[in-house]
Amino acid sequence: MSEVYLTDVFLTGEEVKFREEVRAFIAREIDPGLVERMDSYEEEYPYEFVRKMGKGGFLGVSFPQKYNGRGLNFVSEVLVNEEAGALCFSLNCSRGMTVYVGRPINTYGSEELKQRYLAPTLRGELICAEALTEPNCGSDIANVETKAVREGDAYVISGAKRFQAGGIGADYFLVLARTNPKVAAHKGLSAFIVEREMGIKVVERFELLGFRGMGASDLLIKATKVPASNLIGKEGDGWRIFLHMLEGERLLEGAGAVGAARECMKIAVKYANERSTFGKKIREYQAVSHKIADMAVGLDASRALLIQAARLIDKGVVGVDAARAVAEAKLLASETAWRTANDSLQILGGIGYTKKYPIERYLRDIRVVLIYNGPSEIMREIIQRQTFRELTGSK
Ligand SMILES: Cc1cc2nc3c(=O)[nH]c(=O)nc-3n(C[C@H](O)[C@H](O)[C@H](O)COP(=O)(O)OP(=O)(O)OC[C@H]3O[C@@H](n4cnc5c(N)ncnc54)[C@H](O)[C@@H]3O)c2cc1C
Repeated sequence: MSEVYLTDVFLTGEEVKFREEVRAFIAREIDPGLVERMDSYEEEYPYEFVRKMGKGGFLGVSFPQKYNGRGLNFVSEVLVNEEAGALCFSLNCSRGMTVYVGRPINTYGSEELKQRYLAPTLRGELICAEALTEPNCGSDIANVETKAVREGDAYVISGAKRFQAGGIGADYFLVLARTNPKVAAHKGLSAFIVEREMGIKVVERFELLGFRGMGASDLLIKATKVPASNLIGKEGDGWRIFLHMLEGERLLEGAGAVGAARECMKIAVKYANERSTFGKKIREYQAVSHKIADMAVGLDASRALLIQAARLIDKGVVGVDAARAVAEAKLLASETAWRTANDSLQILGGIGYTKKYPIERYLRDIRVVLIYNGPSEIMREIIQRQTFRELTGSK
């Protein structure tokens, strides 16, 4: 059996070869038992996976080689995350996090920050997480309440953060905090690198439906002194940095979900080809086989939109100009992945609901992609607003 990727028509030969290299590396180097251990809370963070991916040169492949990247394009990042997500959606996020936090450091950070944090992160030696969401703000992130006040050569940061993926394993956090309460909400934000050892308390408060082994911790930041040199960019750059992070994040999480969904589809296809009811294989019932058709279309379309948006980023199209492409890709990839996992489970009937097959785990894990780094509702808002802007010239 061979898998045919119609969207390879949008990739170069090198990119296809690179995807095969990633796939072979993951199959050879990563113990599949890790996934089970994560799901049953035996692993608090996938250190082994991140370290091996770092050693193999598969973290932050689009970053410059001098910081341990490979100098490849963003399309290549998308390809790695689909492969990581195919093994386990939470692992896709653990690898992606090095890109989400690494991009703002690389684009806005000082050389000192790049050497101290970016380079070891891409070697898999330092673990990072992002601290944006708070108990009182998620989608409307401009309303961050965490405060950072300048005192001499340092900032004193106080606040509470919620839902930090991989927070429990993190050595440092990218923290969004308010430095100026007197200007419009989004203009008063700044981004900092805060090491756990500087005084952050990390608590795993909630049990999750899925996504275990990455988890989503809460942070208590109590008058924590952070060197002023740990400010990324300038005071007030927080909003730009946030948008820059999200661009990459939305595409890679979408790709991870596509990877997870493609594995569900493979299981469903095999099962439908073997299982018989009423004297014939269930694939012979259109109600079953047309679900497979819809999965194939959805996954190809999702990959096409992900590659399209990643190519735009590679061409230097960013911010508002990339917003619709990124939101379309994230929306389609996440909703397709969810539907594919759900329909795959349906095709397996009762046994699909058990742990005999991993579909139930993929389903639990990927549910969060419809919520985090911008829920589907917000993706639709971005798309409709941008479409009206383009077609009516309105602001
Ligand atoms: C497992 C997990 C991991 C996470 N990891 C991280 C992380 O690493 N770092 C981090 O900072 N955060 C993280 N988050 C937080 C996540 O990004 C937020 O939960 C998400 O942005 C939604 O915010 P909220 O939960 O506050 O929901 P709310 O913003 O309160 O939204 C509630 C509902 O209202 C809808 N809604 C809100 N505003 C609008 C609108 N204008 N139009 C239409 N509908 C709207 C939303 O779509 C949603 O359905 C994580 C969350 C989870 C569950």
